[in-house]
Amino acid sequence: MSPTIDTKSPVVHHDLPTPDPESPTRTRQPYKLSTLCVAVENPSMKDQYGSSSVPIYQSATFKGVGNEYDYSRSGNPTRSHLEHHIAKISSAARAFAVSSGMAALDVILRLLRPGDEIIAGDDLYGGTNRLLTFIRTHVGVTVHHVDTTDPNAVIPFIHPTKTAMVLLESPTNPLLKIADLALISKEVKERAPNAIVVVDNTMMSPYLQRPLEHGADIVYDSATKYLSGHHDLMAGMITCNRDDLAKQIAFTINSVGNALTPIDCFLLLRGVKTMAVRMDRQQATSQLVATYLHSLGFKVHYPGLPDHPGREIHQRISDGNGAVLSFETGDKELSEKIVGSTRLWGISVSFGCVNSLISMPCVMSHASIDPAIRAARGLPEDLIRLCVGIEDSSDLLDDLEHALVDAGAIALSAQQNKYVRVPPGHAALNKAVEQLAIGSSNSRGVEHEWFVSAPGKVILFGEHAVVHGVTAIAASVDLRCYGLTTPRNDGKLSAHFNDINDFQAEWDIESLPWGASAPLGHHERHPEDLDQQLIEAIHAGPLRELGPDKDQARNAALAFLYMYIKLTNAERPSVHFDVRATLPVGAGLGSSASFSTCAATALLLLSHRVTLPSIPPPISAEHLHLSHHGRHALEKHNAEEANRWAFIAEKILHGNPSGVDNSVAVFGGALTYNRPGFGKPSGMESIQGFGSLRFLLTNSKVPRDTKKLVAGVGLMKQEQPEVVGSILDSIENISAQAKRSLADSTEFGRENLLRDLSVMISENHKHLVSLGVSHPSLEIIREKTAAPPYNLSTKLTGAGGGGCAVTLIPDDFSDTSMKDLLSELTECGFDPYLTSVGGSGLGILSPYPEHRNTSAKDIHPGQVTPPETPDEANTSDPGDSIKASFETKSLLELTGWAQNLGKWLYV
Ligand code: PLP
Repeated sequence: MSPTIDTKSPVVHHDLPTPDPESPTRTRQPYKLSTLCVAVENPSMKDQYGSSSVPIYQSATFKGVGNEYDYSRSGNPTRSHLEHHIAKISSAARAFAVSSGMAALDVILRLLRPGDEIIAGDDLYGGTNRLLTFIRTHVGVTVHHVDTTDPNAVIPFIHPTKTAMVLLESPTNPLLKIADLALISKEVKERAPNAIVVVDNTMMSPYLQRPLEHGADIVYDSATKYLSGHHDLMAGMITCNRDDLAKQIAFTINSVGNALTPIDCFLLLRGVKTMAVRMDRQQATSQLVATYLHSLGFKVHYPGLPDHPGREIHQRISDGNGAVLSFETGDKELSEKIVGSTRLWGISVSFGCVNSLISMPCVMSHASIDPAIRAARGLPEDLIRLCVGIEDSSDLLDDLEHALVDAGAIALSAQQNKYVRVPPGHAALNKAVEQLAIGSSNSRGVEHEWFVSAPGKVILFGEHAVVHGVTAIAASVDLRCYGLTTPRNDGKLSAHFNDINDFQAEWDIESLPWGASAPLGHHERHPEDLDQQLIEAIHAGPLRELGPDKDQARNAALAFLYMYIKLTNAERPSVHFDVRATLPVGAGLGSSASFSTCAATALLLLSHRVTLPSIPPPISAEHLHLSHHGRHALEKHNAEEANRWAFIAEKILHGNPSGVDNSVAVFGGALTYNRPGFGKPSGMESIQGFGSLRFLLTNSKVPRDTKKLVAGVGLMKQEQPEVVGSILDSIENISAQAKRSLADSTEFGRENLLRDLSVMISENHKHLVSLGVSHPSLEIIREKTAAPPYNLSTKLTGAGGGGCAVTLIPDDFSDTSMKDLLSELTECGFDPYLTSVGGSGLGILSPYPEHRNTSAKDIHPGQVTPPETPDEANTSDPGDSIKASFETKSLLELTGWAQNLGKWLYV
């Protein structure tokens, strides 16, 4: 039995009255739509137990005779609740829930008879088009597709008796064209009084547009979209205010049996409650995305843009611009690349979900429309549709920008210092030129060298205490590791780790254990866990001959080979990888992280996972960190990618690294770090704004056992919790104060910085001594530097028990004193390094010819600044000389020489 419909009763709108009655002084305000969405309340269907969520009546039949419900095809209480709720938010008297949006249209089209005519839009959803074609060929209904954005185009097709239905969408999907629903409804009613106006409102949802208020007779929604919001159900909703139509619709649903199931009704009701918040957020982000793409010069279809042709009409008939937009790139292949390059935007048909989606309608949702018809209706083959979700807008914009860069649709402009659109047609060409110009590895043919470098790190404050939840402060040191890949092109891969006992090895590329590792897609990230099968295969294969005395070299080679196999499966470039460092290895200064960063970056460049723009990036003159001639020119996403892989290498080398060392190696500067699990925010935070500081790093050359030292402090904490607790508190205070001082870029702050740091360094060292982690050699360094005339503050850094000490050098410290101090320390058998802290992170020697210093071959040691104007006349490839000189330069010359090869692109 279907619920009875009294066609004579007046239309009742289901608004939920506010509690107050109307009075002469206060007119009754109906609740806002966002409130109505949440308030699922049907006064005529009170729940016997007062349940706050509508129960699922998962029952096909209901007992008794003559009751409201007997059989769920005809009616079901959960469905009634949903229908009542949707009617309420749609300005409708009646609503019907069916199994999909297409089922809704099917029910509506059954109102037609053979010989009837329909006027429908020419930019309709593909499935709608398919069903209209079906009724045209099987039912004998004539379908006129017209441009409904122009009411004048509709009028000639309206026939006073034959026109039975006008089917509209606004905005249309995917071109976001606007139809004046109010005006067309009026024109149709005047010319064909019996015709019914039907609107597919899926793109808007009742929250943003209620076409019944503008003269439509029937409205339907694919509730699979915004009404549900989670892509976890299929549903369609039909709403109307005419009881005659409602009666026929109810009859069809009962006859064919396509009503929505109780459980889906329940899920849909739950989805509707959050529709307003979802839509508000999705719309706000859509506006940002549309504006961003528009500013880049793409043709963007979104009614929220000022130049949208239907904007004025849309603002009149709707309450918002929705969360679907589309844009044209001018090149189908380019569009395919963009769609394939996003990570956060999922490639999927449909829209309205909390997750953001990207698609190409012509190859996906609208593929069912004949290509010739698509062309005739002006649906561009290169069109990309974006369906915006509720993710953080900056993440979505970042991901989109990443994809546009990757696909070659935009590139950094040196002149404008921002991304600009690459003219259509040039994108593919530019990408190809870029690959050629800046070093490609194609079919194993590698033509160029890549020269990369990364700094070491020093822990300024908080070592040991960090293990127990105290904030540590780490900074980059201007002692760097350098990595150079040189083409071999003979099917071999080789590596030379100069600072690990001059380790050298060569492998036949084909004999590497490729089969032990599943290839990683170009945009795929490495999973959190290491691939143990690959690690074992590398140990058993290429590294099998390395004896136990070669532990350090074996680990470095393992990290290198692991990344080579994971990253370059497609290219398998034949190269030689050379590494040298001005940083002491194993002295607690992050040498392994700077090695990891160099190896990861070189391999990312060879596998094109890190690509540089085809136009030389702008190199800003100023840099936050004043040392190392740093120039910000590497894009953030490249830095993030290098950091992710450097962390993987660190995992191979250390098992469970904190990620601090590789972050400092990649990003430079200084950061604070808190370990997770101590009830306060964990993770890293960069400290911005301080100029680099001069430090003396003195390597005691006493080897340490970090694990033992850490365990020792742990034991002491167990035995004397109060003593250790108060030491940890004091170190926490020092870290907090140091962070404030370092970040204070005011003149006053800078003036006091050196003095304050000096005091904090001495205090922190005393605390570390109390924790028992110093060493006689470190105390000698401390005493020597503290003695007059030097009067300097020194502390151990890292695990202690040997390793390095750091000494702050004030700006006015004389050269003579420096020389004397260096020789005193050297005489004691220590290795002192004068360096600066807080300088640049990862650097790549610029591959652009205009950035190379062609007179690099004639560089004199000690010359550190490249000439302002490179010698234009000399066009020989400076890369020729890099490998030979790299291997032979003395440690003292290395930095200056590398610097003078040309401009470096820094993070
Ligand atoms: N109408 C529009 C505008 C659509 O986008 C869709 C589906 O994508 C439908 C109708 C059909 O809805 P359903 O997939 O729920 O059957």
